[in-house]
Amino acid sequence: MSAPDSPGGCESFGLAVLAFPVLFVVSCGLCFGVFFLGTSSPSSAGSSSDDPYSGGQVPYDNYQGEESFACLLPPAIGYLTDRYGVPRGDYTHGGIDYGCYMLIGVPVRTPMGGKVVYTDLSPAGYGKLVVIENQGWQVYLGHNSSYAVAVGDLVSAGEIVAYTGNTGQSTGPHVHFEERKWNEQTQSFSPQNPLTSYLPGQTDFCDWYSLQVEQENEP
Ligand SMILES: [Zn+2]
Repeated sequence: MSAPDSPGGCESFGLAVLAFPVLFVVSCGLCFGVFFLGTSSPSSAGSSSDDPYSGGQVPYDNYQGEESFACLLPPAIGYLTDRYGVPRGDYTHGGIDYGCYMLIGVPVRTPMGGKVVYTDLSPAGYGKLVVIENQGWQVYLGHNSSYAVAVGDLVSAGEIVAYTGNTGQSTGPHVHFEERKWNEQTQSFSPQNPLTSYLPGQTDFCDWYSLQVEQENEP
């Protein structure tokens, strides 16, 4: 199952539907792409089109807290549905997607501890988004149905920060997990490959693509 999300933004998408109903009917993908290109996207931070999508940036909080990391699957149960860096037409996927057996309300845990700097609808299509920051890194956990934390909360790795949902540009319940690193020169965040970058407190390779927790069968 693929559960793609798209950075075009639900607001843009809604407007596109209103403005170009015929185009939308004829080709949703074309309509979406055309409109997306013609819209001022939320701060894509000077990256080229080959770079993973970095829109919908959450401002740098400069929180420097204790290092806290756990190599864990963000949804309490789930499995890999899409990888980092995969081309998706007019943008490149900036994170890893984990399906959760089409379940809404599965606890979502953060692999990185830090300060909660965002719990709101993403302007870039990530739905109800939680962002945790620490030492120049931000972790995005998107498409949730509800939040378990509030802005300003300090959390440790493994803590539940949200519950799975299907909000934003999403075709089924899943978690979009993304790592972004602050760049002092460009004064912006850019997505990083989780397989080749270490979050604060991470001392070993984490095989993000092999993480899986199976759904328990009913007795
Ligand atoms: Zn995603």
